[in-house]
Amino acid sequence: MNLVLMGLPGAGKGTQAEKIVEKYAIPHISTGDMFRAAMKEGTELGLKAKSYMDQGALVPDEVTIGIVRERLSKEDCQKGFLLDGFPRTVPQAEALESILSDLGKRLDYVLNIEVDREILMERLTGRRICKSCGSTYHLVFNPPAQEGVCNRCGGELYQRADDNAETVQNRLQVNIEQAQPLLDFYETKGYLRNIDGQQDITKVFDDIDSLLGGLHA
Ligand SMILES: [Zn+2]
Repeated sequence: MNLVLMGLPGAGKGTQAEKIVEKYAIPHISTGDMFRAAMKEGTELGLKAKSYMDQGALVPDEVTIGIVRERLSKEDCQKGFLLDGFPRTVPQAEALESILSDLGKRLDYVLNIEVDREILMERLTGRRICKSCGSTYHLVFNPPAQEGVCNRCGGELYQRADDNAETVQNRLQVNIEQAQPLLDFYETKGYLRNIDGQQDITKVFDDIDSLLGGLHA
């Protein structure tokens, strides 16, 4: 079960990733974790990545791809894996194809959790934080009893600058533009499966589960 997971910020990718790896006992391979592990192990590529990151520079593709290759060659990926955060570009996706082919594997599915932009905006801009005690609320999912007031301490609730509509809109736009060529690439390859991410969390997972249940059946 060799999977790539895609979805915009707020689509619920993290939650679904946890459920998938728990049910199917495959490793969840996120870019961040992979980099941290390679640096901790002190592999040649890990040290290279670290030297770029220490300078605040982007890690070049050849290093990232090398780290992915090492990670996917490990024993725990024998039965499959869930890649999350890689690939981000078509050249990376092409590199992944070649890594997998060298390892005698291929992708099964690229799962893309789809949620309308308006709903993502609502999810991503709804967070409110208490100035006094730091409790967090969400206008839709976990609203305070009284608008603008903390249930716990009566403190004033505020919105972080990162969560304001303009910042979130820009972040979504960048992500959409980045994801589109990749979605087109995987659609052409026949790996893409769109999942309706606007349903309950349980229902979203049911849809993923019934798709994956059909693999190697
Ligand atoms: Zn409070």
